[in-house]
Formats: sequence, C-alpha cells, structure tokens
Amino acid sequence: MIKTAEQYIESLRDGRVVYQNGQNVKDVPTFPAYKQMVERSASEFYIAMLPEYRELFNVQENGEEYSFAYKIPKTGEDLQRRRNITQTLSRLGAGGSKLTGVDGLNGVAYAAHTMDKALGTDYGKRVEAYRKWCQDNDPGICAAVSDPKGNRELHAADSKQQHKDFYVRIVDRKKDGIVINGCKLHISHSIFSNELVVLPSRNHDESSKDYAVSCAVSCGTKGVKFIGTDSAIAGGGGHPMIIFDNVFVPNERVFLAGEWKFSRLYATSFARYHRLTAATYKHVQLQNIAGLARLIAEHNGLTHATRIRDMLAWFAMYTEMTEAMGKAAALDAKIDPQTGFAQPNHVYTNCAKYWFADNWHQAIKYLQDIAGGIGGTMPSEADWQNPETKPYIEKYLGGVAGYTTEERLKVLRAINGHSSAFMGILTIHAEGSLSAQRMALYQQADWELFKAAARSALNIPTDHPNFKNISRESPWKLPK
Ligand SMILES: Cc1cc2nc3c(=O)[nH]c(=O)nc-3n(C[C@H](O)[C@H](O)[C@H](O)COP(=O)(O)OP(=O)(O)OC[C@H]3O[C@@H](n4cnc5c(N)ncnc54)[C@H](O)[C@@H]3O)c2cc1C
Repeated sequence: MIKTAEQYIESLRDGRVVYQNGQNVKDVPTFPAYKQMVERSASEFYIAMLPEYRELFNVQENGEEYSFAYKIPKTGEDLQRRRNITQTLSRLGAGGSKLTGVDGLNGVAYAAHTMDKALGTDYGKRVEAYRKWCQDNDPGICAAVSDPKGNRELHAADSKQQHKDFYVRIVDRKKDGIVINGCKLHISHSIFSNELVVLPSRNHDESSKDYAVSCAVSCGTKGVKFIGTDSAIAGGGGHPMIIFDNVFVPNERVFLAGEWKFSRLYATSFARYHRLTAATYKHVQLQNIAGLARLIAEHNGLTHATRIRDMLAWFAMYTEMTEAMGKAAALDAKIDPQTGFAQPNHVYTNCAKYWFADNWHQAIKYLQDIAGGIGGTMPSEADWQNPETKPYIEKYLGGVAGYTTEERLKVLRAINGHSSAFMGILTIHAEGSLSAQRMALYQQADWELFKAAARSALNIPTDHPNFKNISRESPWKLPK
C-alpha cells in the first residue's frame, strides 16, 4: 500500500520521545519549529499519489501497489529510477523521511544474504520479511549508522574507552530477541521517520562482537529518545542524537547479532548505496548554486569579465561532473550473482561523493567572491519590510537595471545560507568523511589493471587479460 500524507502525519503520533531546544515535544506534527520539515516529509507521500508521478514513485505487483523505495534494486536502471525519484523530490522541496533508510535496507539486505551464504545463518529471510512489511505499510525509514565512537583510536570494547556505550551494542540476549544500548548520532530526518534501520558504523573484532548489531526499530519503541539538532544550527530538528536506552528488539527485526566478521560488510554495503544517493540530491543543490553564481554575476553586471567567466565555467564543471559520476555509478551497476542485487559501481559512487565534498569550499569561495561583501552585510528581512528603510535599501542595493532589488537580495540571502558552517560540515561529513571515500577507493581500485596498463606501456610483459599479447608498436606502419 502507499500512504497518504494524512496517514503519514498520523503515523508520527506513536508516542515517540523527542527533545528539542530544552523542550519535550508532545506532538511532532504540530510542534511549531518542525512545521517545514513535517510539510516537506508529508509532501513525499502526497506527490507519490499525484497522477503525473504515481507511475515513477510506485510499483504495481500482483494487484498490489507499493512504494518503489521498497523494491529490491535488480538493475542499473532501478538505481537510476531511484535517482530520478530523489531528484524529483529535491526539486519539489519534498522528501527526507525515506532518503537514508532505503540505502540502509538495501545495504543490510545485501550483507545479510551474503553472510547467510558464508555462515549458513538465516538473516536474509528476516530482512526480506521486513521489506515486505515496508511494502505493506509504507513507512518513513532512516539509516542509523554513525556511532559517537569516543576515542577514535580505540576499538569499541577497549578498556581504555571512557565507557562501553560509544557504539550501539547488545546488552542482553533473550529467547525472543535482543536488548540494545547506546546512541547513534546525526541521524537525518529521523524525528520525521517511522523506522530506524540500525547497523554498525565500522568493523568490529571478536572482543567487540556485541557491537556487531543490525536491526530495525520503530521510532516509538520504549527506550528510544531523540534529541534534536540545535535549531540555531539547522532548522527543524535536523540530524538528531538517538538514544537507545535498553531497547528490546524482537528476533524478527534482528539482522546481525554478533557475527563480527561481517560488521564491516554491513557498513560498506550501506555506504555504497548511500554515496550514490548523496551525489543524486547534491546535483540538484549544485545546479542551484551554479545558478546563484550566474544570477549574482548578472545582477552585478560582470558576466563579460574573464575572471568571473572562469569561475562560472568551473561551476558548470563542478555541477555536471557530480551528475555524470552519479549516473555512471548507477548505470554501471554491479549485479551480484549470488543475491541478484544491483549495487552502484563502487569506485564511481565514492568518486562522486569525494568530488563534490572536496570541492565544496572552493565553490563557496567562488560564490562569495562573485557576490561581493554585501552577501555578508545586507540588512534584515524586517528592514526590507519596514517602509522607513525599504526605499533606501531598494535604491542602493539594486544592481543592473532590469533586475529588481528584491531578487538580488533573495539571491544574496541564499548565498549566505549556502555559505554556512552547517552546509560545509554537512557536505564534508554526511555520507562519510573524505577519508572514508579515499579508503574505499584504495580498496576498490583495480590495481592489477592499472599495473598491467603501466607494464604494457613500458613493453614489459603482463598476463592481465586486457593487456596480454598487446604490442605497443603501432599496428599500422608507413610503407617502406
Ligand atoms: C549533516 C549531517 C547529516 C548526517 N546524517 C547521517 C545519517 O542520516 N545517518 C548516519 O548514520 N550518519 C549521518 N551522518 C554522520 C556522518 O556519516 C559522519 O559525520 C561521518 O561519517 C564522520 O564521522 P564523525 O562525525 O564521527 O567524524 P570522525 O569520524 O571523528 O571524523 C573526523 C576526522 O577524524 C578522522 N578520523 C576519524 N577516525 C580516525 C582514525 N581512527 N584514524 C585517523 N583519522 C580518523 C576523519 O578522517 C576525519 O578527518 C551525518 C553527518 C552530518 C554532518
């Protein structure tokens, strides 16, 4: 089934415990600071029902209709379709409540099936039963991966850690389930989701096997508590801390419970899908930024200047490269022969995330350079509305004739917003810090092929199938 926006709003009234800026939030849908996020999230459900989007957003199978988000990706085209959905939502100012969790579900499903094949465990069936439940109930779902970690040099169970709960762990095993304790940090849109897909953020060794845990937990479960991001930093609860205070998880929702050798696979499988999602929504954001750069250059009458054009050309490259790598990562998917899952090209998806994150501050530098100082010193919206000050602002903050001062101010305010520390930190760290992509790239790059390419160029023999028996001498010769 697919949920209506109204059903989604009701689903947030499940007794969840939420704290925001010193208050205990009694009712998420009507909490004033959450209005925008609630509307944004509900809009995803609304849009999915509109005739012009229904076919893109949903799947018809055996007489049932369910959200495409919950379909197992089997082809590169499936991954690309998910990108289309994410970009459509981003353009329409909607979405969020399924953004990360679908990657969590697919990452966990792939890892669970792979582990089952290796160990003879039976987690894959549980994940697929959970997926079926998602198809039938259409929840908002988010991935709860990042642990607070404490001393990053130490493993989770190291006795030198200040306490044992820097990573979510199993504290009790019962006949019918497990009890988990700990915290997950920065979990985007989780206050507006229904389900948390919990999975490890890193590898764990045998001494830390209780930290190798993955499960699904409903947001209203006893012991789950959300502490929203400071509203002064990011609006609407943003990316909260989630406390798991001795939370019971029934066996059917447990997808990893101590098989420590596989915790890394859970983390990396999720990241592989999630970095594709990152490149996908980021492209829409970068189109916006490139547009702001061009608009303010036009407002300032500077589009003829070579130095401004150079920066604008860079914006076009920055934006379109992100999309090109995202599209390539989806369409050059690897279809896993064991599980049938389509996974984004591992190298391309990491390149895409690294590329946009590593260049973000350069983009902001250019944006601020083109905009000029007024991007940091402009009067407030209230002064624009005040009839005593508006005429001065209107007169002196105008630019090239033909553009209104109001438009110029809107563009400048947006440039200021994108320049925030929050946006910089989000771009660098969300979906994994830069070193996480470098590590993945180092591990996934085809070094044998690269070495063979170098050997072949040097006329050193190589057994690599792509270069074997290739002579570097030109196959075509000039007549003697
Ligand atoms: C806005 C935002 C939204 C997010 N949304 C989500 C979400 O929805 N779900 C989720 O699970 N997570 C989310 N994250 C978390 C994100 O994935 C992490 O912030 C990221 O993985 C970095 O982890 P960290 O913040 O603990 O920083 P750290 O891992 O502490 O990184 C800080 C620096 O230390 C370095 N470092 C860390 N450990 C080591 C080490 N052992 N040796 C050497 N160097 C090291 C890193 O390379 C980096 O340079 C979000 C983050 C942000 C900012």
